[in-house]
Amino acid sequence: MRRRFGAPPFRRQPPGVGIAPALQHAHQLLEAGEYPAAALAFEQLAQGAELRQGPRAPFFFLQAGRARLYNQETNLALTHFRHGLELLERAGRRAQLQHAGRLVQEELSRHGLEAAASSLAIFFGSEPEPPPVFSSTTLPTHCPSCGGPLRPSELEWLDAQTAECPYCGSPLRAR
Ligand SMILES: [Zn+2]
Repeated sequence: MRRRFGAPPFRRQPPGVGIAPALQHAHQLLEAGEYPAAALAFEQLAQGAELRQGPRAPFFFLQAGRARLYNQETNLALTHFRHGLELLERAGRRAQLQHAGRLVQEELSRHGLEAAASSLAIFFGSEPEPPPVFSSTTLPTHCPSCGGPLRPSELEWLDAQTAECPYCGSPLRAR
């Protein structure tokens, strides 16, 4: 298999070192409103990560879904959202599944896609909303390493002070 980005291991490196430029670029494209290009970039990242069974694959699929949603490609967006949530479900990452799934539902509702939003509820069953485990004011809004948007509820918290970027795995210290 051709490894397009040849990404080295990400962990335990200073911010910005070893982060795939493709990931930083994908975040920039989405923020800049370049939705088709952002979608393609996140789709490539997602497929590569899934082949490696990497823990970031679900979040790349969710970003690809957002890019497709903003580009009015609803069916593709839903395919990506479902797949990202499925990967979280299969990995048993229940808290991330519920938090990420509810954020996706909110975005779909904002775009007038109520039925699609409701259809995602199959992923949560009858589980109650998980309680927040942190204060959202203590982290930067974007990862200093890869530039990805940080939604505190989606993060994996290593301890009360340290979370991990869902896109690049960089440790994030609460202030
Ligand atoms: Zn990051």
